[in-house]
Amino acid sequence: MSDHIYNFSAGPAMMPPEVLEQAAAELRDVRGSGMSVMEISHRSSLFGEILADAESGIRRLLGLPKNYRVLFLQGGATLQFSMVPMNLLAPVDTAEYIVTGYWGKKAAKCAVQYGDVRTVYSGENSGFTTVPQQGEVRVSPNAAYLHYTSNETIDGVEFGYDLDAGSVPVVCDMSSDILSRPIDVEKYGLIYAGAQKNLGPSGLVLVVIREDLLDRSPHELPDLLTYKVLADNDSMANTPNTWAIYLLGLVCGWLEKQGGAAAIERVNREKARLLYEAIDKSDGFYSGRAAADARSQMNVTFSLPSADLDAKFVKEAEANGMSGLKGHRAVGGIRASIYNAFPLAGVEHLVDLMSEFARRNG
Ligand code: PMP
Repeated sequence: MSDHIYNFSAGPAMMPPEVLEQAAAELRDVRGSGMSVMEISHRSSLFGEILADAESGIRRLLGLPKNYRVLFLQGGATLQFSMVPMNLLAPVDTAEYIVTGYWGKKAAKCAVQYGDVRTVYSGENSGFTTVPQQGEVRVSPNAAYLHYTSNETIDGVEFGYDLDAGSVPVVCDMSSDILSRPIDVEKYGLIYAGAQKNLGPSGLVLVVIREDLLDRSPHELPDLLTYKVLADNDSMANTPNTWAIYLLGLVCGWLEKQGGAAAIERVNREKARLLYEAIDKSDGFYSGRAAADARSQMNVTFSLPSADLDAKFVKEAEANGMSGLKGHRAVGGIRASIYNAFPLAGVEHLVDLMSEFARRNG
């Protein structure tokens, strides 16, 4: 096994090495219990502590006020595409969607069967390379909620700000940029994020919901799809993903040690800056996909002058200890995913290859 692979995968993605080491050291004996976290009951007091630690880590890192609940659920961010309208959209009401990429489009499509859905901004005509400016989107005051995707993982476009929708609850898919920078959490009614990029392993989705939204549920729903039931049962209406919750708690501890969201944002900005600079200074050999003011700090998408060169670049990167750079099949090209746990040294390694590869092939 090599320790030196820089994994640029979009998710599941790199975990902090310290977290993997701690998890390995505690695998058979968590917190001195003589048992693995995978072997203990989710109803045990020990797991209760692990769950409480994960929740308080999220609360501190996001700066959550008391009137927000933290849920650890399953079904990924994809199930949230349906659970959000199931719980928040009555058949007679309208939900508004800002669609800036592949995932937001999917989310809007899933909502259609529960009520009226209006797309109030779409980046599709620009090939999903843009995001709206603050204030550009007119939100109806009667909308049940406004949904957007803060970072489009495939297209590589990101909102650099917290969208303000006045009194309309904002629902945000933050799967690929949660805790990469500080946010003003009170601007949001509901935030969801699949864990497998910035929070931990797959099989877990974090939902943060403002308490007043728990009572909406306009449809008859099974318990496991009802936020209120899940909140009343502290995410344990059934057996939760105990292993992933434990790891998410360790990731939160790691992030707090780094100095939290504000400190990691500085590192994230530097990583992204290096890559975009390499693109912009390549005399057109590398072309960035996103418009300059919509560039993602998490997923840097670009392409070379031909699909053959894209493929050659990915192959050479692999030979140089860098994996996961092939762009999503929906858009092609190259995608470098550089979430919180991705080290600056890996970005420097990629930038070196980019300049050398351009020299040889330009
Ligand atoms: N939303 C975004 C922004 C994503 O990046 C992804 C997955 N890459 C999803 C939703 C879907 O997540 P999951 O596979 O956890 O359902």
